[in-house]
Formats: sequence, C-alpha cells, structure tokens
Amino acid sequence: MLDVLIVGSGPAGLSAAIYAKRANLSLEIAEKIFMGTGQVAESGQVDNYLGLPGMSGYDMGEVFRGHAESFGIPFREAEICGFERTENGWRAALAGGGSIEARTVIYAAGAKHRHLGVRGEEELAGRGVSYCAVCDGAFYRGKTVAVAGGGNTALDDALYLSELCEKVFLIHRRREFRGAAATLEKLRERPNVEILTETVIEEIAGEKKVSCIRLANGRTIEVSGVFIAVGMQPETECVKDIAELDGAGYIVADETGRTSAEGFFAAGDVRTKQLRQVVTAVSDGANAAISAAEYLRKI
Ligand SMILES: Cc1cc2nc3c(=O)[nH]c(=O)nc-3n(C[C@H](O)[C@H](O)[C@H](O)COP(=O)(O)OP(=O)(O)OC[C@H]3O[C@@H](n4cnc5c(N)ncnc54)[C@H](O)[C@@H]3O)c2cc1C
Repeated sequence: MLDVLIVGSGPAGLSAAIYAKRANLSLEIAEKIFMGTGQVAESGQVDNYLGLPGMSGYDMGEVFRGHAESFGIPFREAEICGFERTENGWRAALAGGGSIEARTVIYAAGAKHRHLGVRGEEELAGRGVSYCAVCDGAFYRGKTVAVAGGGNTALDDALYLSELCEKVFLIHRRREFRGAAATLEKLRERPNVEILTETVIEEIAGEKKVSCIRLANGRTIEVSGVFIAVGMQPETECVKDIAELDGAGYIVADETGRTSAEGFFAAGDVRTKQLRQVVTAVSDGANAAISAAEYLRKI
C-alpha cells in the first residue's frame, strides 16, 4: 500500500510529489492524460511565474514534469473515477478497471474553464482568445478587447483590463449581471468601458489571430482579444460523496489542503481559494504533501 496517491500531474500534483518524495513517502501519481501537465500546457506564454518569465506554458509543464521524473517518481496513466474508505486509508477506482490503495490521497485534479461554444473560439484559443485576464491581460496593453460573461469574474476581468487596455467591451447575454453591484458601478464610471447587455457573441474571427467579434444583432466589433469569463468547472465529480464541496463545486480546504475527509487532501485549482494560478497550485501541492506526511506520522 502506498503512503500517498496523488491524482493529477498538473503543477499542484507535481509539486506535491516532489515534497512527498523528499519526506520519504512511498507514492504514485495517477494522471488521465498521456504525459499530461495540466492546464498550464494550454497557456501560450506564462509571464507571471517567478524565475521563468516568458516561457511557453507547454515548456513550463515539461520542466515541472522533468523535475518530478528526475526524482524517480512513478507515474501511471490512469483516470480515477471514485474513492472508497478502507480500514487503512483509501481505495481509488480506475476508470479502466482495477484500483490503487493508499493511506492518504492528495487530490489535485484541477478545473476546466467553461467555453462559450461559438465559431472561431477553439481555433483562436491562445491567439487572442483567453480564459484568464490575470495571465494574459498584459499582452493587450493599449489595445481593444472584449470580455464575455456576467458574473464576478467577468466584472473583475473587465475592471482589471480597463487599467491596461485602450477600450474594453463587456458583453453579457442577459439584461442583469450576477456579479457585484459595486464593481459594476465602477465599470460604468470608466470612460474606456462599454457595457453591452442582452448581446450574444456569435463568432470570434481573425486570420492568424483575433481581429473582431460578430454579434447576433449583426454588429461587428474590432478587437485584438476576447476574454471569456463564463465560469470554471472543478473536477470534483468523483469526490462529491466523500468530501465537502462549496456552492460552486470546489473542495472545501484551506492552505493545509485538509478536507472534511480524513487522510484526503486537496491541492491546486480544485480547492476553494482566491487565486487559481500556477504559483498558488505549486504552493498548495507542497502544503498538502507536508500535511499528508504529518497525518501519517500521527497515525
Ligand atoms: C489557457 C490558460 C492559460 C493560463 N495561463 C496562466 C498563466 O499565464 N499564469 C498562471 O499562473 N496560470 C495560468 N493558468 C492557470 C494555471 O494553468 C492553473 O492555475 C494551474 O495549472 C492549476 O494547476 P493544478 O495542478 O491545480 O490543476 P491542473 O493544471 O488543471 O491539472 C490537473 C491535472 O489532473 C488531471 N486529472 C483531472 N481529473 C483526473 C482524474 N479523475 N484522474 C486522473 N487525472 C485527472 C488532469 O488531466 C490534469 O493534468 C492558465 C490556464 C489556462 C487554461
């Protein structure tokens, strides 16, 4: 039986693995994607991770994975589809059949950005279509961009981008916003923000990069970037019956990674937190591994 099973080889899982290995724990990482390194691989360029400015997200993921591999950490290409409490810890069921037993679990399965599902979105992802204003906003300094969405993330993104960009269109398909009224008020006061409600984006267009969006009402707006902020989907389907989730489906856990389930830790984007970034995922992984080691010492 393993001391710790780590689910996911994104930044959180890989960082947890390095700390667990150095704490002398026996471990394995289960990752459902062949050679996967998580969402970071989808980022064209990561400019906000300390010490590695301007690196492509794909390369960063490779550097992280290579670091873990250099420690001899075993990886298994497998999707975990459920957990069962055992006398000594946890049994994780594999989607392809079989199971893995471990005294503790560090669950670092991340989250996915919801997509708009419009023409051009997939083709232009990373070439003007972004799901993260904090990550990519600086690339659009002095340019015109659109933000799609009506919740707090969309409003915060629009406010953040209005500090950098020449003009920001905030586009929401409904009449009322779900986000904070105070942020909306601030946006209404910004001269470089134009708010379009009951407006649906039908297409994101451009040759090699985004050049415009086409709206269902027939209007075309020239933009250099489109920030899609229509929510995130945490990967928590297979833990919903064993650990407490918040209203948005994230695992309730603080910085220690401890969840409502004994010996079951959460790290990275999958847990309740303010900022979902590589730096916070890496930090979570380290903390969760130390929490697991401490828990194993106690039992
Ligand atoms: C397009 C894009 C650009 C970004 N740009 C930046 C940036 O510039 N700077 C920055 O700091 N952050 C950026 N981020 C955010 C950053 O990538 C995430 O915050 C970070 O990757 C979260 O790490 P994680 O390990 O918690 O989760 P993830 O990276 O989501 O990794 C989770 C891993 O778990 C695996 N997994 C999921 N479910 C299972 C299962 N059931 N069984 C086995 N494996 C499973 C997944 O395949 C995945 O590999 C960006 C994200 C995106 C999508």
